[in-house]
Formats: sequence, structure tokens, C-alpha cells
Amino acid sequence: MNTSVLRDPRALRKICVVGGGTAGWIAAALMAEHFRGLYEIELVESDDIGTIGVGESTVPPFLQLLAKLGVNEQDFIRETQASFKLGIRFENWLRKGEAYFHPFGAIGVPVDISEFYQLWLKAKANGYPGELQDFAPAAAMAEAKKFTLPFKALKTPVGGAAYAIHVDARRVAKFLRTFAEARGVKRTEGIVEDVVQRNDGFIEQLVLKSGKTVEADFFIDCSGFRALLIEKTLKVGYQDWSQWLLCDRAIAVQTENVGPPPPYTLAQAQDHGWRWRIPLQHRTGNGYVFASRYLSDDEATATLMSQVEGEPVVKPMVVPFKTGMRDRIWDKNVLSLGLASGFIEPLESTAIHLVYRGMEFFFRYLPDRDCDASLVAEYNRRMAADYEEIRDFVILHYCTTQRDDTPFWRECRDMVLPESLQAKLDLFRVNGSLSEGLDELFRSVSWQSVLEGMGVRPAGYHPLVDRIPFDGMLQNLDRAKETLGQAVAGVPSHEDFIRQHCAAQPPERVTMPA
Ligand code: FAD
Repeated sequence: MNTSVLRDPRALRKICVVGGGTAGWIAAALMAEHFRGLYEIELVESDDIGTIGVGESTVPPFLQLLAKLGVNEQDFIRETQASFKLGIRFENWLRKGEAYFHPFGAIGVPVDISEFYQLWLKAKANGYPGELQDFAPAAAMAEAKKFTLPFKALKTPVGGAAYAIHVDARRVAKFLRTFAEARGVKRTEGIVEDVVQRNDGFIEQLVLKSGKTVEADFFIDCSGFRALLIEKTLKVGYQDWSQWLLCDRAIAVQTENVGPPPPYTLAQAQDHGWRWRIPLQHRTGNGYVFASRYLSDDEATATLMSQVEGEPVVKPMVVPFKTGMRDRIWDKNVLSLGLASGFIEPLESTAIHLVYRGMEFFFRYLPDRDCDASLVAEYNRRMAADYEEIRDFVILHYCTTQRDDTPFWRECRDMVLPESLQAKLDLFRVNGSLSEGLDELFRSVSWQSVLEGMGVRPAGYHPLVDRIPFDGMLQNLDRAKETLGQAVAGVPSHEDFIRQHCAAQPPERVTMPA
């Protein structure tokens, strides 16, 4: 009997990743771990071109990526100078001087068969003065600048929180490169200058500036905004979403820390966009995301530099972008990931998330060398749904503004919404119902947080809340708030938590070139 294992003769043999930014190395690391040598993996990147170097705030599923890779979270935090993130604090979005928090994890606990939000709506309708965020463990910890791992406090009121991390983008790419190379990924340094296609358009070969060629059966385009294979070569087209998301440029600068890093990202609305502050252990990332129609690079830079708190450690960098998504994220034998596949401005820190989602679906719909059109179509449908869900959630932050102090904010307030978002808002306005998909990144609690923060409340609450006896409800809410406050008081400060569990080595001091 022949005991040799037969492989499908059409199976992939080699996959080439083009680009070594966060997207390229996440793809390479996941494939190294997942395929265990089944296919040869080669990554081509150019030190001369470099990576974008921003992209430092993440969402909670990022930690599942680390778990899938078998990476120890605390080691990763040490290596990437990371800090913890309990959510995003939004300032000046509804009106100047107002703030709200979009927390990770739960807000309150369901009562009977009603979600907490519905109960709270009824309490508000009956004059209850408390805020929704008073019941969010992540918001309460963030406000007190405290942190503990929620899953280690499951039986306490802070157990309902969730968290993500803020990371140093360059250190992430370096970490994942070491990880992937140790598991057999071959790295080739060089600039891709030419691409050779078969008659049917499938890509066969890359030609590097050095004259070297790289062949593969399948290519993952992680070449950033250049989109070398998916757009420059295959010309799949791009859906431009700038009629809803007006910002098209960012100024980014890193500064020294002026104090311990707070456990949240700050998104502060400005006259023509918004400013981010992402605190790491060794420095802070800052940026101004703005609409070039209303503001020049010089004006945006001056505004940003007048608002950052610490001394700059690099020169401000201008990053132009176009919000939208490729018409086909996967075409022929090219799958695009990261900035090559599309970009939704970074307000909810979702771009890196879409990279590992893209890989998750790639593994699910893994092709052979023929790349069957049904697999490609299903992949593209799933990714488009993710992109559109995130797009609508980000637009929500702008379109609900009550600001009318600049043409930028008036345009946001008055825009005609995508039908999908309009339908969602219409449903919500009835009694707080939300049309939640099966597998969405932003669940009801996120929508409720932003809608409440932006002053949008439904006309009424869900009828079944009336099943719950109302006597004593307001006192119970007060008690729940008090118990959460007491639990948070017993949690260590974010600074102490990092010091005790995952403090990074102080980095070498960088002196800014004159
Ligand atoms: P890049 O980092 O640009 O890498 C491209 C790679 O392609 C490089 O290695 C380059 O050398 C290589 N390359 C290009 N052309 C060639 C060639 N011809 N030959 C060989 N190699 C080539 N995401 C988040 O999740 N959270 C955030 O907070 C966040 N903030 C952001 C803020 C801004 C202003 C922007 C613009 C993006 C932000 N992002 C954020 C997105 C995030 O930065 C990217 O998704 C992430 O860094 C992945 O980038 P990338 O690897 O696709 O591209």
C-alpha cells in the first residue's frame, strides 16, 4: 500500500506578501503560525520606501490576534512600549466644551429580559439624573486613570469592562517580523519595479529593482497606499466615501510624555476635523485629522503643535489619504490587506482590525491556484460588510453633531447619509432598537454610547421594560453606581499596573534632528 500523503495538485505552493508594514507582518505571522510550513511564504519589503509608522490605537479583538499567535500579552506590551486602552474619550463633538466616553465592554447588567440601556431610558424618562457612562466599568476606570485585567475581576463590578492596547507601530512590525522569520518566513529586501502577469491577468512574478525575480501562486498586497498589485496592476477600482467622511489628511507627531499614560485614546474635535492623543509608555502619538478643503497643512500643523503637551521627538509628518474601499479587495490571485485594501479614517482605530479580519476570512475561503470565483466573491462580500459597518459607525460621530461654528461641522450636520446608516438611525429613534449583525465589531453598547454622547435619544423605551417593577429602580441604579465606584477605588492606577506587570525598558533617547 502506498502510504505517501497525496496533496491536491492544484493546491497553493507559495504565497508572496508585498510590504512589511503592520499589515504585511501580521499576514506573514498569521500564515507562519497557521500553515505550519504547508506553503512557502516570502515577504518582499523595501527599507528605502519604509512604512507609514502611524496606527497605534487598537480595539479589543487585537488581543485575540496575539492569543492566536500564541504570543504572551505582557511580553508583547513590554516589547512594543504599549499601554492599556479602555475606550475613547470624545471631546467637543456634540458641542464645544462637552465630552463623552466610548467604553469597551458592558454598560450595566441586563435586568429580567431587558438590556440595561432600556432600563436606563425608562429611568431617564422618569427624571433620573445619572449618566449612562456612570454604569460602564471601563469608563469609570478610565476616568480614574485606573486599570486591572477585567477577566481577573469577573466577580466584581469592573469585570464587565474590556480593553485593548496602544502600541508603537514600528515595534509591532519588528516584533512580528522576528516572530514570522523564526517560523520560516523568508524576507527579501528590495523595491518591486515591475509585475509580470499571465494572459488571464493572474500575477506570476515580481521583478525587483536589483533584477531579482520573485514567483508565487498567490500574492498578498500589503504595499500601503501605493496598492502596487491590487490597483496599479489589476486596476480593480475604488469606492470613494469622502462625501460622508470629509477628512482627507493628517498631521502626525510624537511627543515626550508629560505624565503617566492615561488608559484611553483622546479624540478631540477641532474646527476642521479632530485631534488624536495616543499615550504609550515611552512617548505619546498625536495627530490632527482634517479636511484639506477647509484647512492647509501649515494651519493644521500650527494648530496641532499649539495643542500637544510634551516636547516633540520627531518632525511633524503629513499623511494624505482617501477614505474608501477597493471595489474588489480580492481579485484573481491577489488579496489586498491594510492600506492597500482601503482606509477609513482612524477615529475608532479600526484599520489594523481589518487586517486580521482580512486574514481570518482568507483562511476561511482559502483557494487553490485557480482562485475559484465563488470563494473570491464571498470573501469580498464579507469584507465589504465589515468596511461598511465601520464606515457607518464612524460617520455617526460626525453627522449627529450640533456644532455649527465652522463650515466643516455644518457640512457634517447637514449631509445626506448612506441608506444603511439612515435606516439604522430611523430604527433606533423608535425605541432604542438596533439592527445588529451577527459578527459586527461595534455592538449595541458602542452605538448607544456614541448616540447618547451625541445627544440622540429614542422617542421611547422598549415596551417589555414595563415588566420590571419600577418601585425602587432609581435607588437600585444609585446603588449600582456606588458599588462600581467602590470597586474602581480598589483597582490599581494604570501607571502602577504597568509598573508591576509589564513595564518596558526605557528606550534610547531620540534627539530630534535640527
Ligand atoms: P505601510 O505601513 O505603508 O507599509 C507598506 C509596505 O509596503 C512598506 O513595508 C513598504 O516598504 C512596502 N512597499 C511599498 N511599495 C513597495 C515596493 N514598490 N516595493 C517593495 N516594497 C514596497 N490603524 C489603527 O488600527 N489604529 C490607528 O490608530 C490608526 N491610526 C492611523 C492614523 C493615520 C493618519 C493613518 C493614515 C492610518 C492610521 N491607521 C490606524 C492605519 C494603520 O496605520 C495601517 O492600517 C497599518 O499601519 C498598516 O499599514 P500597511 O502595512 O498597510 O502600510
